[in-house]
Amino acid sequence: DEGREADGVGHGHADAADTTSYGPAEGWPNDPYAGGAPRYQALRRLLTGELSHEQVLAELQESGLRGMGGAGFPTGKKWELVRAAAGPVKYAICNADESEPGTFKDRQLLAEQPHLVLEGMLMGMVVTGAEEGWVFIRHEYGPEEQVLRAEIETLRSEGLLGDDVLGSGRRLVVDVFTSPGGYILGEETALIECMEGHRGEPRNKPPFPGNYGLWGQPTLMNSVETFADVPIITTNGAEWWKGQGTNGSTGLKFFSVSGHVEQPGVYCVPMGTTIGELIELCGGVSGGRALGALQPGGASSNFMGPDQLDVPLDFGTLQDAGSMLGSGAMVVIAEGTNTLAAATNVLRFFRNESCGKCVPCRVGSTKAHDLLADTLSNGGELDDERRGRLLELEVVMRKTSICGLGQVALGPVVSVLGRTANAEENGVGK
Ligand code: SF4
Repeated sequence: DEGREADGVGHGHADAADTTSYGPAEGWPNDPYAGGAPRYQALRRLLTGELSHEQVLAELQESGLRGMGGAGFPTGKKWELVRAAAGPVKYAICNADESEPGTFKDRQLLAEQPHLVLEGMLMGMVVTGAEEGWVFIRHEYGPEEQVLRAEIETLRSEGLLGDDVLGSGRRLVVDVFTSPGGYILGEETALIECMEGHRGEPRNKPPFPGNYGLWGQPTLMNSVETFADVPIITTNGAEWWKGQGTNGSTGLKFFSVSGHVEQPGVYCVPMGTTIGELIELCGGVSGGRALGALQPGGASSNFMGPDQLDVPLDFGTLQDAGSMLGSGAMVVIAEGTNTLAAATNVLRFFRNESCGKCVPCRVGSTKAHDLLADTLSNGGELDDERRGRLLELEVVMRKTSICGLGQVALGPVVSVLGRTANAEENGVGK
């Protein structure tokens, strides 16, 4: 595999801006169909009974696969829940509304491995009992949507979509739903509200979509990368998948790397690769500069420092280190960059994208941003009073916002203030 280095760190890298070059890639280390092997074999085995539903669920559970969209919920468990939920009908949705600043790995997956995404989704539909499914894609991903629609036509022509797929008696229908726009639509319940024709605002949870999703029916929703991992795991086996990880982690992980690195792009590496190794894979910090700070998991993740280069990239290890894996988007910032300004920039995004449904997020993000913008335009020094107000706002927003946007909006700012410790320890916000 040309994307796999001798040191065991696999990667692929392509120019995402060159949308005319999209096509089946053979450079990614994860594709079981690389080299021209007939595709959709795992789905065919599932539909013909060669592979049982229970085997798929067991492999997913054993693999330890977790949702790659940010929340990290165990995939096998989610599938079990939807499978056990009462209908009368069930639906499936692939969340391709990738809109987090710095996150563009799903775009590349959709462009170059749409067969894996659709195969995983269709396998999920078969196992959970869903007949109809949609890929909910952000409207800016026009070229990727074209690739996806062409792949859906291929599935139809091969008899893998329709009223009686491969004579199995199963009806499987898949379509594309183009998002009208808005970051918050990537939140699973806001996405469902949007598909139902309502304002794109998150619902209170529970109930979760697995029990009460689209039009009130049990709905299986996974991200692009999660669905794409399913045929890989069922083809190669859970043991193979687990063996792909390093430093005690399991599996492979796609990262979007941007900012001050020599070669920004999409990289597929063993889960557990350290922060420093991934930056090295990207050619190091640009211009030979030293690392100033980084966000390992997209705009929602807390900033980390150059003293944390040895931290392995995984759900638990990043959480222990005070940040999170999130959407797998590493944003690298070179030394000499104003990190408070960078964090304020992130907060501005959240303020702008807040749907406004709940007061703590709507008002809190505006107040915090105004305070920081004023500080930055007056020398950038935060006095104790302003620092205290920011910490208090962070606690209130984290505790009382309905959805993740408001809950994490101020986290990156607080991490830059050197206060990764919970502000409650100091009695703030009580
Ligand atoms: Fe909307 Fe923000 Fe409340 Fe989420 S936290 S529901 S984005 S106002």
